Amino acid sequence: MEVKVLKNILSANDQIAARNRELLDSKGIFTINIMSSPGAGKTSLLLETIKRLKDRFKIGVIEGDISSRIDADRIAQEGVPAVQINTGGECHLDANMTGTALANMPLDKINLLFIENVGNLICPGEFQLGENKKVLISSVPEGDDKPYKYPLMFHIADVIVLNKIDLLPYVRFNMENFTKGVKALNQNAEIIQVSCVTGEGLDKWVAWLLANVTRPAR
Ligand code: MG
Ligand code: ZN
Repeated sequence: MEVKVLKNILSANDQIAARNRELLDSKGIFTINIMSSPGAGKTSLLLETIKRLKDRFKIGVIEGDISSRIDADRIAQEGVPAVQINTGGECHLDANMTGTALANMPLDKINLLFIENVGNLICPGEFQLGENKKVLISSVPEGDDKPYKYPLMFHIADVIVLNKIDLLPYVRFNMENFTKGVKALNQNAEIIQVSCVTGEGLDKWVAWLLANVTRPAR
């Protein structure tokens, strides 16, 4: 057997993220980190997802925002445990904040955890939280140039949800240019077109979740 040299020393954040992941794995919880710019529809997609999947999974949600608990309250109205993190100015969640939220989440009562990151297309991409999958939501009114301007986010995503497709007739958005930009950065991530207003495409998003959410071995 070859001795493998660990080339990359984990950063402090990554070490805490690994501990979060161990805890989540030990509880049999699959975790999804949802990222997007502000207003792309993270909370809306979560609410639609909860409606469709709350009978199949025991869902919990961590809400990251700079301030307020508006989103956690909206989620809690669906009868799902929701923990709000206020970053107090930080423009991303880190593994330490996530660990604090996990301490306040009823981990024995959930098996699918969504973490809604702070709305920002830059640094959330650099911080591991302990998640199994990363979802990036982009939306039609943001324009088709986002993959070109924020390449890291599109590069690291496991799936890209393009929200607000109901607005396609009203705004300038070149689907071909968007798709080309994504494919240049990420050959594997599927692009799922949805509208949380009309419900179009949400069946495809749910199908992606059902195909990708696995129960970690205890
Ligand atoms: Mg939100
Ligand atoms: Zn940040």
